[in-house]
Amino acid sequence: MSEVSPCLSCGACCAIFRVSFYWGEAQSAGGCVPDELTTRISPHLSCMQGTEKAPTRCVALNGEIGAAVGCSIYEHRSSTCREFPMSGENGIHNNDCDRARALHNLPPLVVLEVS
Ligand code: SF4
Ligand code: SF4
Repeated sequence: MSEVSPCLSCGACCAIFRVSFYWGEAQSAGGCVPDELTTRISPHLSCMQGTEKAPTRCVALNGEIGAAVGCSIYEHRSSTCREFPMSGENGIHNNDCDRARALHNLPPLVVLEVS
């Protein structure tokens, strides 16, 4: 039986941090991230549009933070998104997940010890 991910009722990390990645992850460079949703921020880095400014919110994030959200480019998201673990994944605490949730007035996820 699969459990519903807490991320589907959160989305906080998509609306706090600058979500940057190597520009070569864009589709035009052979990667998977749609170019039109990115902004070049340095010779080597791009970021998801909407995360380079305040108030921060990735343009690919659908829904209401803290209620029900989804990533409109889930299969095409960058390595930065793929590699950001929710706190508790594999029993490991992620302070940045906690911090993002706190800034959206959401409590930290409960991290269960993996024995
Ligand atoms: S691309 Fe998707 S997972 Fe990544 S920050 Fe945007 S909404 Fe979140
Ligand atoms: S802040 Fe944590 S729980 Fe919320 S969407 Fe991001 S990884 Fe998931």
